[in-house]
Amino acid sequence: MAKGYQATKERQESIGFLGKNLGKRAGFKCEWCEGKEDLKPWDYRPAREPALENLALLCGNCRELADGRKGSVEELRPIRNALWSDVPAVAEGAARVLAQCKEGWVREAIEDSFIDDGVKAEILKR
Ligand SMILES: [Zn+2]
Repeated sequence: MAKGYQATKERQESIGFLGKNLGKRAGFKCEWCEGKEDLKPWDYRPAREPALENLALLCGNCRELADGRKGSVEELRPIRNALWSDVPAVAEGAARVLAQCKEGWVREAIEDSFIDDGVKAEILKR
C-alpha cells in the first residue's frame, strides 16, 4: 500500500476523532459565517499533525473560499467576525480569505484583530 495513502487515512481518522470536540467548540455552526449547511472540518495546516487549533468547522461555501475560490464582498462580510476568534484556524484562515478583498474595512478589521503580528504582516503585505 502506498505510504501516502496510509498517511492520508490516518490523518483523516485523527481529524474525525477531533471532529467531535470541534463540533462542540463551534456550537455546530460554521465558525466563519455561522451557516449550518454541509459542516465539515477544514484543515488550516495540512502539513502538520492534526490539532484542534488548526481545524475550523466550516460550511461548504466557506470551505470553497478557504480553498481559494474568490468570494464576493457579500460573502466575505459575514466572515469578518471570525477574526476575533482565539483559534488560529478560524481567525488566521478567515483573514487570509478576507485579504483578497481590497476594500478598506478588510485591512482595518485585520489590523484590529488579535492575530499574531507576524502573521498579520504576512497576510497584509501586497
Ligand atoms: Zn460558512
